[in-house]
Amino acid sequence: MKIAVIGTGYVGLVTGVCFADLGNEVIGVDSDESKIRSLRAGQSPIYEPGLVELLSSNIRRRRIVFTTSLQDAVNRCEILFIAVGTPQDKRTGEADLSFVWEVARQLGNTIRTGQTRRIVVKSTVPVGTTESLESRIRSRLKARRVRAAVTAASNPEFLREGSAVRDFMEPDRVVIGTGDSKTRALLVSLYKPLGAPILSTDPRSSEMIKYASNALLAAKISFINEIANVCEGIGANIIDVASGVGMDKRIGAHFLSAGIGYGGSCFPKDTEALVYIAGKGGVRSQILESVVAVNKSQRRRFLDKIIRFYKGRLAGRRFGVMGLAFKPNTDDMREAPSIDIIRGLLKKGAEVVAYDPVAMDAARRVLPSAVRYAQDPYRAVDGAAAAVILTEWNEFKELDLSKVKRLLARPVIFDGRNIFPVEDMEQMGFRYISIGRRAV
Ligand code: NAD
Repeated sequence: MKIAVIGTGYVGLVTGVCFADLGNEVIGVDSDESKIRSLRAGQSPIYEPGLVELLSSNIRRRRIVFTTSLQDAVNRCEILFIAVGTPQDKRTGEADLSFVWEVARQLGNTIRTGQTRRIVVKSTVPVGTTESLESRIRSRLKARRVRAAVTAASNPEFLREGSAVRDFMEPDRVVIGTGDSKTRALLVSLYKPLGAPILSTDPRSSEMIKYASNALLAAKISFINEIANVCEGIGANIIDVASGVGMDKRIGAHFLSAGIGYGGSCFPKDTEALVYIAGKGGVRSQILESVVAVNKSQRRRFLDKIIRFYKGRLAGRRFGVMGLAFKPNTDDMREAPSIDIIRGLLKKGAEVVAYDPVAMDAARRVLPSAVRYAQDPYRAVDGAAAAVILTEWNEFKELDLSKVKRLLARPVIFDGRNIFPVEDMEQMGFRYISIGRRAV
């Protein structure tokens, strides 16, 4: 099948490359010229395991090409996926749809008489957006006196950064929301090679499935974080508590790791967007409001532990921060807890030397310029007052801890991701402060 993917970010690029790998002819469209230049050269602008290999092999086989010309894609493809960003409007919390409406405007101006075009919305969008998109494009075509057949479908994406290629290729389910049977049939055959269950529904329910899924996952994280805070107060161990809870098949073991809360480009904005959507529908979502509030306070709580440990006197102390990305295996810094925690340390007059295996370039663009960067975790902690672990990269789990102890000015580790057993750290003579477990 010939398909276009508009927006070649985390979702669009993975979608395009994976569909190409399944044997389709794909055009990736992006308005960012430098992105398109590097993609044409086989370089991925983002870090995602396995992506660059898949990208270059499919460029070589001429199954995927990249362009900044939407016109080109509209002329050549019947199916056009929209995967542009839908960031949060910081003022209201709702999703900012300006990129989606811009694509709708461009489609309305480029589709020609006689063409049949199926627009598939992969971006996470508020309920009703797919229908509005279709009517916006149609009314623009009408104004231009263009006689074309345009349908829009919702097809939310559930991939996770850090395992995006695998998640795309082996999804738990594919959701297709459209009332148009031909569009549904085409999408079903496009996804058939993945062998995943396909749920067909109307566009509104499809859009809601995406928000409800992300909100439930975020709720699991905030819930276990709150339980972790309780564990600290009563002397229980959150690792054992979460294991025991997660063994119940009705609950499931995933998303029960206590820490410094969720970040990234999806959970923070999607939970707040759903609070807004609920409000518009006349419902005050008390659960979601709490999920958001607990997540925000979890970062603050961790920072407070550090501040309390030094009785508020952080000025002039240097901290070796390990991990900046919002989670392992990605370079994505959007809404990363590290941003707030590092800012908080700097505000108290501390110095920060940070290390992340892949996110340091992205971090330089968002963190204050006072932050210094080290080439490896050992250099980050060399001479520091303490190590502060903010992302659970495997690399950190395999650190030579006796070397870390030798390098630190004092053997203190604040672990926001619970990557080491408390007993081991105690035995090694560390002061070790983590989440939901006794401090030693
Ligand atoms: P992103 O910011 O990484 O990528 C968006 C891309 O769209 C950018 O490259 C941008 O240049 C391009 N773009 C913007 N306007 C354009 C236009 N008019 N024409 C062509 N290109 C344009 O975003 P992302 O993380 O890939 O997210 C995309 C959507 O998918 C969002 O709605 C997000 O909520 C959703 N989503 C994201 C993830 C994730 O893990 N990142 C997972 C599931 C769903």
